[in-house]
Amino acid sequence: MTEPGYRETGDIALHTESLTKAFGEFRAVDGVDLSIERGEFRSVIGPNGAGKTTLFNLISGALTPSSGTISLLGTDITAQSPAERVESGLARSFQLTTVFDGLSVRENVRLAAQAAEFGDLSTAQQLFVGTESLAAVDQRTDSVLDSVGLADLADAQASTLAYGDRRRLELGLVLATDPEVVLLDEPTAGMSGEETAATIDLVEDVLAEKTLVLVEHDVDLVMRISDRITVLNGGQSIATGTPGEIADNDEVQRAYLGGYDA
Ligand code: ADP
Ligand code: MG
Repeated sequence: MTEPGYRETGDIALHTESLTKAFGEFRAVDGVDLSIERGEFRSVIGPNGAGKTTLFNLISGALTPSSGTISLLGTDITAQSPAERVESGLARSFQLTTVFDGLSVRENVRLAAQAAEFGDLSTAQQLFVGTESLAAVDQRTDSVLDSVGLADLADAQASTLAYGDRRRLELGLVLATDPEVVLLDEPTAGMSGEETAATIDLVEDVLAEKTLVLVEHDVDLVMRISDRITVLNGGQSIATGTPGEIADNDEVQRAYLGGYDA
């Protein structure tokens, strides 16, 4: 099944079919079909309680669906553990990435890169990985530090980072796992308008090559940055389209935007 308005132009990075999560009688996510293209920037909007976080929990594997399927780059990942999904190319920020305050910036990034490289090996096996693999981890660490603009602060202890640099480090931890698809659930929660814009600019810059799925409250921002927007309401996807299509959609106006004029 494809979404209304969906143009079949590229590879599908993330696909869900009839994805449903019931808590007792209540369906927090109710038959959601998503088709997100590789490289697309997709935002998911909708009122509080619409099911956005539950949808992300299903995709990341934090929750098991009641029914429906999820595929990543053409592979069915519905039965995979969260760690297996990371190895398949899925990353979720920011809630699942932990910055270790007592470690340096480089050590933090290196740990994330190492976990992605050797995540399927036991600790004992990791002792015996070759210098070639370790060199690959070092290389990825350096390239991530460059991408997020923290090369000069690589030796700083994470606890000493200024607010914006800590956000950069968090994004670095996401990048270090070498994801194809990145889920961002309200990365700007609690930020001022200015911080929000700066964070989203950084996300757009650092993750330009990735497929992004973003939950964000700031509708003006969402309209400006998204390739396509999906609107959830009552657990259901009520519309998917370009920012212009979403702004002009009567049902979306009634359910969420309440007079927003693009
Ligand atoms: P959103 O992120 O869009 O604000 P959520 O996905 O957090 O919405 O929640 C969707 C609905 O599901 C809400 O009504 C919420 O109370 C309910 N819900 C979420 N998690 C649970 C749970 N573990 N048990 C029961 N109800 C839940
Ligand atoms: Mg939420």
